Amino acid sequence: MSMTVQEVLALAKTKGAQFVDYKFIDLPGVWQHKTVPISEFDESVFTEGTGFDGSSIRGFQGIEESDMLLIPDPGTAIIDPFMKLPTLSLICNVVSPDKVSYSRDARYIAQKAEAYLKKSGIADTSYWGPEAEFFLFDDVRYDATQNTAYYAVDSEEAIWNTGKSENPNLGYKIRNKEGYLPVPPADATHDIRSEMSAVLESLGIQVEAHHHEVATAGQGEIDMRFDTLTTMGDKLMLFKYVVRNVAKLHGKVATFMPKPLFGDNGSGMHVHQSLWGNGSPLFFDSNNYAQLSQTALYYIGGLLTHASALLAISSPTTNSYKRLVPGYEAPVNIAFSARNRSAAIRIPMYSNNPKAKRIEFRPPDPSCNPYLAFAAMLMAGIDGIKNKIDPVAAGFGPLQVNIYELSPEEKAKVKSVPGSLEGALKALEDDHAFLLEGGVFTQDLLETWISYKYANEVDAVRLRPHPIEYKLYFDI
Ligand code: GLU
Ligand code: MG
Ligand code: MG
Repeated sequence: MSMTVQEVLALAKTKGAQFVDYKFIDLPGVWQHKTVPISEFDESVFTEGTGFDGSSIRGFQGIEESDMLLIPDPGTAIIDPFMKLPTLSLICNVVSPDKVSYSRDARYIAQKAEAYLKKSGIADTSYWGPEAEFFLFDDVRYDATQNTAYYAVDSEEAIWNTGKSENPNLGYKIRNKEGYLPVPPADATHDIRSEMSAVLESLGIQVEAHHHEVATAGQGEIDMRFDTLTTMGDKLMLFKYVVRNVAKLHGKVATFMPKPLFGDNGSGMHVHQSLWGNGSPLFFDSNNYAQLSQTALYYIGGLLTHASALLAISSPTTNSYKRLVPGYEAPVNIAFSARNRSAAIRIPMYSNNPKAKRIEFRPPDPSCNPYLAFAAMLMAGIDGIKNKIDPVAAGFGPLQVNIYELSPEEKAKVKSVPGSLEGALKALEDDHAFLLEGGVFTQDLLETWISYKYANEVDAVRLRPHPIEYKLYFDI
């Protein structure tokens, strides 16, 4: 990663690229792409762009103003490892035909958030370490006889896994919530995760570790080394692309859906974050609780104050709220705590090194648009610092207990995360001024986001008879 235009042209030549692939993100957060033969590619695309129909991309333009342009970022050049013919791949920003940055281009919002942080004078750099968990299932398109999520969703499979039935476990199948960290053959997806990690490393993404996750067979996590905000957005998109494509090569499907299995852990995307200035970490102070600096505490105050609104962006699907329930290591309460996985913010205590001091925000999940989610979290943190929001005074902890097991009276004192996407969207409608600061998010983006989510997701789920309703009510 990180190349000049000339270096990109040279890379295309040395690798014998026959095609150039332009990738960009739609509003919900899925990569889109278009491809041109190498004969159509020269350095002018980096200033003049390449056209596409913005009206056919989710959350983008009306048909009457559909012509849009992609401007590739030379710093993102790679050779796509999954395309059969040698193909140069570039991540793009979206602009209008008169080259004005597009307000619904999430990558642009991430860039604006980084610039806003610098301008604020609080810090010049933010570092992001997302841990995107995922499930691997057998691909029913290839072998419909295999056990898959598609029919594991209801209770039969969950009962089988918990061993409540008489079925013996003859296949080293990992039981629900026991996937952390048995060796192969129980960990049957080890080699696939290693292959994913090797591909990531070959693309310049440093992997720190990979492991099976807590849920039943096939839940995994691969941790990338932290990076700056927009770059980490790019890396996360590439990460999902690699995970999905390597899975497919093995006859598996990878899903980043937050809660594919009832009765088992879901997939989170905890986001480790810290601020730095002039090359020094700003979150460490050996004298305070959990060795957190005052800046870090205020940042936490901002994240927790705006948590409900933030979740509309960081946990943005109806399915996200099936994960955010007690008992599955997903946070349900808006509190902070050292080492505690039941709180919305955990302060990792593995190290005393000031450079490693960071906070972990646990509500996000990998169904989010990472550029928007990181940008929104940064804006909330900056708001906390600017307004000196002390998380202790604001009643957010620190809470050194298992929050799942508090008595009802004690629990009532701790605020909960929204119980539904609708609840989070309502919170965002009421609390979004912090996102509009410095023009980072725009009214247009937020209104589009909220109406898109209501129309295409909240209502789509709310208005349909649910499978479990047939079980509950068919004979009523
Ligand atoms: N899968 C859990 C979640 O939904 C997290 C497990 C962990 O602590 O890594 O957040
Ligand atoms: Mg994990
Ligand atoms: Mg974590």
